[in-house]
Amino acid sequence: MTKNAKNLTSKRNYIYDELVIVENNLFDSQMYAEVIRQYDEVSDLINLDSNIRERLKLPQRSLVVTFPFRRDDYDEVETVMGYRVQHVLSMGPTKGGIRYAPDVNLGEVTALAILMSWKSAIVGLPYGGAKGGVAIDPTPLSRSEKQRVTRRYTAELLPIIGVDKDIPAPDLGTDEQTMAWIMDTYSNFVGSPQPGIVTGKPASLGGSITRRESTGRGAVAIGVAAMDKLNLKYSESTIAIQGFGNVGMYAALDSYERGAKVIAVSDIGGAIYNPNGINIPELFKHMAKNVSVNNFDGAEPYSESILEINCDVLIPAAVGGVITSSNANNIKAKVIIEGANSPTTLNADKILNDGDILLVPDILANAGGITASYFEWVQNTQNYLWKESELHEKLMDVLITAFEEVWKISEKQNCDLRTAALIKGIKRVAAAKLTRGLFP
Ligand code: NAD
Repeated sequence: MTKNAKNLTSKRNYIYDELVIVENNLFDSQMYAEVIRQYDEVSDLINLDSNIRERLKLPQRSLVVTFPFRRDDYDEVETVMGYRVQHVLSMGPTKGGIRYAPDVNLGEVTALAILMSWKSAIVGLPYGGAKGGVAIDPTPLSRSEKQRVTRRYTAELLPIIGVDKDIPAPDLGTDEQTMAWIMDTYSNFVGSPQPGIVTGKPASLGGSITRRESTGRGAVAIGVAAMDKLNLKYSESTIAIQGFGNVGMYAALDSYERGAKVIAVSDIGGAIYNPNGINIPELFKHMAKNVSVNNFDGAEPYSESILEINCDVLIPAAVGGVITSSNANNIKAKVIIEGANSPTTLNADKILNDGDILLVPDILANAGGITASYFEWVQNTQNYLWKESELHEKLMDVLITAFEEVWKISEKQNCDLRTAALIKGIKRVAAAKLTRGLFP
């Protein structure tokens, strides 16, 4: 018996933050429409070649799979949907995370793959963008259930992934263990160990020692650099962080180590608050034994919206579309560092820009993850090992160089950092496509 299969061809209209989306191609979704609108605005600004402009709106390759999945405690078999989208194959292999979430769909994965293309180009990596996902809630899954989903999904992706074709990494709802299962499944099919097939895997399998921390720490480093430009001191700031997973935890730890006061953090289970600053190493110990930040001894529960809390720096590090035109006006932070992908809708972006808020955009702020992934992949493919200090130095060098270039563009064009970052990313991808020419 099968259940939960979703209708691939369903057509719906829905309203998303005042933007009406009519599904008119396979890839449309709330996030896809936002990413394309953003892209169109920047394409106008830079007078992008019209042929390239249309080409880059659609991904080069998309795989939709359905596969059977049996839970531990009953015999019914569900049909689960999975996706892998590769946006541009012109600059090298494609690269991007895999997310497990109940609302994952082709349009969202496509939008995220497009953002990965810009992100790689902004930090100068030899990749096109990709993204993958399985439409399943990972929270209630047992270890063996998660393993079964992962191994079967990997088997379905075999025709299009490869060390020099497409390299997955962790994202929302997936982690180092997920990557280890992907690597094992893929290696079994290929017949030899293939550590370079994924990044963000455990160190024992050739994973980089710095990958886990790189997105959160990278976001803070870029935030510090941006604040320096305005003579604002991160280390003297109060910080609020939405999401306490991979990105949020290390953004919090880095902030704490710099002397900043992390006054509030939240996860899907709730939020906590301490006006004197939360002891983040102690909160890490709490998280080792609990599934949520809730009930942490060193802070009180917080029931209001963490996004609207009184603080200097806000770091959304959970899911997309959380800062909208409904709450943007209530944000009190002076600086927003986007740890998550697409946390701010376009309409909210415009409201924040009109206010006096410095917004460090996702495609720049969270590029530490893909950069550290690149180092891991290079080490795997060359059987070479860098020391932790070297990796950290290389990571900061790439991120801060990219930030400085984006800052210069924003000054020259008199535009916000998101527009400046997109100008850099889109121009580079377009140049690569134009230089390669058309086949046939
Ligand atoms: P994760 O699964 O490790 O953590 C997600 C966190 O967000 C968890 O604490 C979860 O409880 C919380 N959360 C989920 N829904 C929430 C909600 N509605 N309200 C409040 N909290 C909620 O995921 P992650 O790897 O930390 O990724 C977080 C975001 O950062 C995602 O948008 C992801 O695409 C982006 N990102 C991650 C990486 C990476 O290296 N992991 C790199 C770039 C971007």
